[in-house]
Amino acid sequence: MNTLSWIDQLGCPLDPSRPPLRQEGDWLICDSCKMKFPIRDGIPHLVSDEAVPVEDSGANPPQE
Ligand SMILES: [Zn+2]
Repeated sequence: MNTLSWIDQLGCPLDPSRPPLRQEGDWLICDSCKMKFPIRDGIPHLVSDEAVPVEDSGANPPQE
């Protein structure tokens, strides 16, 4: 297991309300902004320059 429990304390850097992020593989995803941030070598890069739009494929049901 490689759960980064401390990411629960992080928030999206792009939103002043700091919505929570969820981990998916090597990414931290903001469901509010539909953006995701890379995790490299176990270190999340929560900066706008690293943010990548989440592809809205419709394959995944929205999570509450
Ligand atoms: Zn966000």
